[in-house]
This record gives sequence, C-alpha cells and structure tokens, in this order.
Amino acid sequence: MITFALEACNLSRTFGTVKALDDVSLSLEAGKVLALLGQSGSGKSTLLRVLAGLESLDAGEVYADGRLVSDVRTTVPPEKRPLGMVFQDYALFPHLTALANVAFGLGHLGKPERRALAASWLERVGLSNRGGAFPHELSGGEQQRVALARALAPNPRAILMDEPFSGLDPHLRADLQSSMLATLAEAGVAALIVSHDTEEALAVADQVAIIEHGRILQSGLPRDVYRAPKSLEAARALGAVWSLDGLAQNGQVATRLGTFESPFDGPVVVCSRPEATLVTASDSGQFNVIDRRGVGRFMTLKLQGVTGDGAFITAQVEAKTAPEIGQHVALSLLPEDVFVFKA
Ligand code: ADP
Ligand code: MG
Repeated sequence: MITFALEACNLSRTFGTVKALDDVSLSLEAGKVLALLGQSGSGKSTLLRVLAGLESLDAGEVYADGRLVSDVRTTVPPEKRPLGMVFQDYALFPHLTALANVAFGLGHLGKPERRALAASWLERVGLSNRGGAFPHELSGGEQQRVALARALAPNPRAILMDEPFSGLDPHLRADLQSSMLATLAEAGVAALIVSHDTEEALAVADQVAIIEHGRILQSGLPRDVYRAPKSLEAARALGAVWSLDGLAQNGQVATRLGTFESPFDGPVVVCSRPEATLVTASDSGQFNVIDRRGVGRFMTLKLQGVTGDGAFITAQVEAKTAPEIGQHVALSLLPEDVFVFKA
C-alpha cells in the first residue's frame, strides 16, 4: 500500500447553507506537486484549512503520512501535523526578524541548533543576508521565500500553499516558481498549491485537481485532464476553450465546423481549444475574421460564421501567417481535439 504524504477521504464542510466542501477526496504523493485549481469561492482555502487542521470537518477523514489527523471527532492541531503552510499573505510574524520567523516552529531544538537550522533554510531560499530584517523591510518576493523557509524548516512531509504567487509582480513569479520548485525537490517535500491561475499551476504541477462548488470535478496528470476533460468546466480550468450548442442524433452532432461523434443524443455542447482550431484562408471559407489580437509569436483570432450569426470561435495562429480582419477562412479540427458534453 502506498503511504501518501497527505490523503483526504470524502471531506465535507458546510458553513450555514454553503457546502464549502462536498465529498472531496484527494491524495498527494510523496515529493509531488499537486495544483488545486478553482474559481474564487469554490472551496480551495477551506480545503487547505481543513487539511492543515485550522478548520473542523462535518464528514470524512484526513491522513497525513498515513496517520489519521482529522475526522468528525478529532482535529489534531496544525503544529502536531507533519505539514507546513504558506498563506496567501505569507502571515509572517511582524515583530520577529526573518531568522526568528523561520526558527519559530523549531521549539523542540536548543537555541543554537534552532538558529543554525533557520539560517541554513534562509540560505537555501537565497536570503542568508536578510536574516536580521523584519517582514516590513522585505519585498513581497522575499517575504514569500521566508514563509517557504519557515514552512519547510520543521521538515514536514508536505506543504500547503494558498495562492503563493498571487501577491507578486508577474515578472517575479517565474523566478520564484522555479526556485521554489528546486527547493521543494531538493527537500523531497510534497506540495499542494492552490491557484486560480491556470498557466501558473500548470507550470509547477505534477498533478492537478479541479474544484468547483466544493466538489472535485476531475483530477489527474495535467496533460490527461487537458486532453480529456470530463466537463466544460474542467476543460475551461486548464485553458481557453470555445463552445457551440448542438443537437446530437444517432451518436453524431453536426456543427459549422463539421460532424463529430457524440456519446449522447440530445442537446450537447461541442467545444475545443483555440490552439487546436486549424485556420485556412479561403475566399469560399464559411468563417470571417472579426478581430485579431496578440503581439508575440501567436495571435488569437475571433471568428464568426460569414452569415454573421452563431457563436464566436477563437483560434490561435502563427502571427506571421495570420489572416487579416475581414478575411474569409475555413476552420477544421482533429476529432481528438473536440469535446462533446451534455448541455
Ligand atoms: P476559495 O478559497 O476557493 O475562494 P473558500 O474556501 O474561501 O473559497 O470559500 C468557499 C465557500 O465557503 C465560499 O462560499 C465562502 O463564502 C464560504 N466560507 C468559507 N469560509 C467560511 C466561514 N468561515 N464562514 C462562512 N462561510 C465561509
Ligand atoms: Mg481562497
């Protein structure tokens, strides 16, 4: 049997009439990074707080390193769990230096050992010269690294991070992401990272889980969820999609982009991704370029049927060969890039 760094089994948590968590199951493998994606209010922070022991449960169990730490009766306190936590706003102690913040969770050690271990963690996150600084003297990125060092110093099996990059300038994020991943990999610590930024999550994740209205819609390898989403919401969670309404009959649905197989008959939604939508300039094409955007290698086209009705389609094309606004184009899709869901 695999011992997971962290395992959530059928968790439910209700606040008044809001089901913040509804039968959530999730497992985090040792040393792996799991990204939890979901819109605002979907239950991400509640799940993290339950896993950390900051919130109680109405049903279900949490196991950390194979040991029961939460069920309806028991909530092992956060500091007794083999877990570290990095909060959205870092939550550093304002009256303590960076070094003292990192040393805070090391109360089981003698004072010299605490200082030495805290200093070595500051060094590992590249802040060996900032140990004496107070949080308000540190930049956002530095505070985040102190928070990471503080979470990792007690040698947890997993760390839980709530939107760890959301307060940072975009140009800092990529650097911090890669240095954070390197630090985690070196420490062999698993991480559950909450994000509402898909690109950011996919850049760091070994696994993804998508949460909506307190339920896990889908989880797995990022590539698998991207290629075979189980719902329109799951498809959207891993990147841009466009969608068309259709009516499937005898296992097929006819659309302006062709006829596709459908696992259901009746009203369906046919969707695909801009990067999978193939565009060929053609005067007899059935679509019209309404708009084009983008400054880099790729442009995103907004397209509509030449008759001027029906839903918009978006397509990503090479900027060098992008058709002009007003150009008629033909669109095509590979069958494996088309997803059909019940409407
Ligand atoms: P997310 O982090 O994905 O934005 P949250 O877990 O913070 O979502 O919240 C999920 C839902 O639970 C929301 O509807 C939120 O208003 C509600 N909620 C969260 N915490 C509390 C609380 N302590 N009291 C009442 N409602 C809460
Ligand atoms: Mg939140």
